[in-house]
This record gives sequence, structure tokens and C-alpha cells, in this order.
Amino acid sequence: MRLHAGVQKLAQLDQRYVWHPFTQMKDWLREEPIVITRGKGATLWDANGKKYLDANSSIWTNLHGHRHPAMNRAITAQLREIAHSSALGLANEPASLLARRLVRAAGDEKKNALSKVFYSDDGSTAMEVALKLSYEVWRRNGVAKPRFLSLQGAYHGDTVGAVSLGHIDLFHKAYSGLLFETDSVPAPYCYRCPHNKAKPQRADARTYRQCNFECADLVEKKFAEANRRGNRITAFVVEPLMQGAAGMIAQPEVWLQRVCQIAKNYRAHIIADEVMTGFGRVTDPKKGLFAFQQEQVTPDFIALAKGLTGGYMPMAATLTTNEVFDAFLGEYHEFKTFFHGHSYTGNQLGAAAALASLNILETTQSRTGRAKLAVEFDAQLQRLWRNPHVGDMRRVGLVAGIELVRKWETREPFDLRERVGIRVCNSMAQRGVLTRPIGNVIVLMPPYCTTRRQLEQMISVLEAALDEVLPVSSR
Ligand code: PMP
Repeated sequence: MRLHAGVQKLAQLDQRYVWHPFTQMKDWLREEPIVITRGKGATLWDANGKKYLDANSSIWTNLHGHRHPAMNRAITAQLREIAHSSALGLANEPASLLARRLVRAAGDEKKNALSKVFYSDDGSTAMEVALKLSYEVWRRNGVAKPRFLSLQGAYHGDTVGAVSLGHIDLFHKAYSGLLFETDSVPAPYCYRCPHNKAKPQRADARTYRQCNFECADLVEKKFAEANRRGNRITAFVVEPLMQGAAGMIAQPEVWLQRVCQIAKNYRAHIIADEVMTGFGRVTDPKKGLFAFQQEQVTPDFIALAKGLTGGYMPMAATLTTNEVFDAFLGEYHEFKTFFHGHSYTGNQLGAAAALASLNILETTQSRTGRAKLAVEFDAQLQRLWRNPHVGDMRRVGLVAGIELVRKWETREPFDLRERVGIRVCNSMAQRGVLTRPIGNVIVLMPPYCTTRRQLEQMISVLEAALDEVLPVSSR
């Protein structure tokens, strides 16, 4: 094991100089941070040598575990050739090979499906590319003011364009003066849907909902109203199957298909944000690597990041159709070029990592492993229903959101100021399991290499943390 500077010194360095994302730094500075020094598989070690399970896959990025030998080999082999050269004016081998692999994984190239790949750096930039391309295609088709429709609670990244597509007041409201206007429709949040007439049960609210899919009708209504006002919606933006940062809002079956059909009927682009859902995280391995494939919809754009490189390198990609690509073709002097690009676009180390990750994902061993882990995950989660503060539990593939409430019988939420999610996750960390909450929702997102015993530990530790933070007398 490598030796590190004194633990305290590392923590002090961090606290003195680093500003952490989505973190109240006043709280951060009060306690000594966990300093991660090493990882292997689903396990992380801190500078004190304490072991943790990585139960949110390092903020939803890691697929095959840390220090996977094939991943490490691919990156070090690429490093022996070159780390990075510019994609502005130059091609490179791993980026070209990866583009072909991504197009093939996303569908049938010949059917003018997703056939072109634009690289960038992270989820926000992948979404920024999609929205700029969609906007410009519509403008070139004579729409003066292209309009975007996204879901309430949507989060598509932190750059200004991506924030404009977002609808989380806590994150986005302060910047409203910087943003362009977008439309929103309710997400299919069955547990808290005003149209769901069912009383709470000890099950995922999608399975006992009593409604007439009013949420899909509202999408239709939104498109129709916009048309009547002469303010046509030109793109529908959606996280397929599960909305992540909104609180792991899982969509009931066929919702995606229905709303995408509505968008198609109104000739709008579909922008599928697969930053969290892509690369087998939420799909049945038999249906493909991407969430949109599960319900056979045909997006015009997909945004990929996080798991693209298996969680090893920052890299992103936006896939789109020939139709979109062709709208930017022309003679140089026509200036139809897509004037957009980042310094690290098409980075060789990232592309090599992504190719290695795809190689692993496409093995029978990974496919069957993922399917088995999802079944095991589901079975183990069931025991959390014993806790009266578990209001809803939404699992899709290898992601689960566990929504904590004051009383399951009434769905009464905790006030965010009580910091229930944070307190539960802090208690879990002390017990050796790391994850981050989204408000009152605890996220479990195990790497695909997680063993049955490790899964059991993640869930037992969550149970113990709930008992500590929310003793039954707190109801
Ligand atoms: N889209 C979705 C669905 C996401 O979950 C995230 C990140 N949580 C983003 C976009 C932004 O990605 P990044 O943090 O890599 O910019």
C-alpha cells in the first residue's frame, strides 16, 4: 500500500483549499472529512485504513468496480501511446472506434437512428450540446423561437443551458435571471401524484396506483396549448425510465412510450438524458444498454456521461441522427458549422476506458451478473418495508430510491431542514457504507461487481442507520 501524508494533514489541506460541490461548506468545515485513498471492486478505503462500500457508485459513475484489471490495463496501454491530442482538426483511433461502438449499441445505423457522436466532458456538456443542436436545427427550419419541454423536478446539469432545462427550485431559482424560459409538465411521480387515488401501501406506488395516466394526458395538453398559442414546443427532454436527481422517480411501465409518441406526433425532437440511466444501469440486459431501448422509443439525441468510461475518466458523448448532422453541412462560407467544442473532446484515455468498459458490459458474464444482481437487490430491499419511515421504494435495475416519511400511512414528508437524509447517510458512513441522499430519498446504486454479501451489508447498514436516526418513537 502507498504511504500517504498524515491523515490529519490531508484533511486540513482539503478544508483549507477545496470547495466541494453541492455542499454546505460551513457543515463541511466542522468535521474531519473522509479522505479516500484507495479502491478495489465495490470497496473504498480512507486514509485511516477504514473500509467502506461504495453504495452510490462514486456519484453514479462506477460500473465494474474500482481498479478493475481490464480497465486499468486499457488506460495504461493507451498512456503508453498518448494521453491526449486535440479533436479540433485531428482524428484519433480510440475516439473513432468508440463512436462506432456507441452507434451500434444505440441501434440500427442504417435506419437513420442515432448515427453521429459528438464528444464532450461531462453530463452537463453532453446536454448542452443536445439542446444547442436541437435549437439550431429548428431555427434553420424556420422556427423563430424553438421551445423545450422538460419534467418537473428535472435536473440535467449545472451549465446555464442545462439549468434552463431543470426544474428544481432549490438549485435553479437563484439563477433564473440567467436562464432561458422552458415549459414543464409533471413527472409520473406516482407516490405523490394528485391523480393517484390509491391509499399508501407497503409497496412501490407504481404497482398499486389508481389513475388514468393523467400525467400523459397533461403532456398532450401542453403540446396542444403551445401550438394554439403559436409557441410550438420543438423538443421534449426526458430521463428515460428514471429521473435521478429529482429523487429517483421511477416511471410506470409504458409512460415513456406514450409521452414520446405524443412528442413525435407534434414533430418535436426527443432528447433522452441517459447520463445516469445509460450503460446497463436501469435496463434489462437483454433489451440493450440504454433506457430508451427498454420501451422502444426513438430519440433524436441521447446524452451519455458518468458510466461511459465505467467511472474512470471524465468523458461524455451526445449521439444524434443523420438528419440533425446534415442540417449543419454546407460550404465553409455558409458558416453552417456547429461552432462548439471543448479542449478535451475525444480524449484518448477516456475513449480507451470507455471501450474497455463496453467490452466488459457486453460479456455474458456481465449481462447475467447484472440480471442476477437486480433480482437479488429487489429481494433484499423488501425487508426495508418493515421500517415505518419507508414511504416509497422505487427500484429500476440497479438503482433504488428509498423515500423516507414521517408516517407511511399519511405520506407526510420530513421538513428538509431536519436533514433526515443527510443524517441517515452520515450514520451509514460511520457503519462503513457510503452514499448520498437526495433530500429525504436515500439512494442505493451498487457497482455491478457488488457481491451478494456486500449488497446485504448495504441494506443492513441502512436499516441500522434508520433505527438510529429515526427511532420508532419519533413518529
Ligand atoms: N443529467 C443527469 C440525468 C444527471 O444525473 C447529471 C448528474 N447527476 C447530469 C446530467 C450532469 O452530469 P455532470 O455532473 O457530469 O455534469
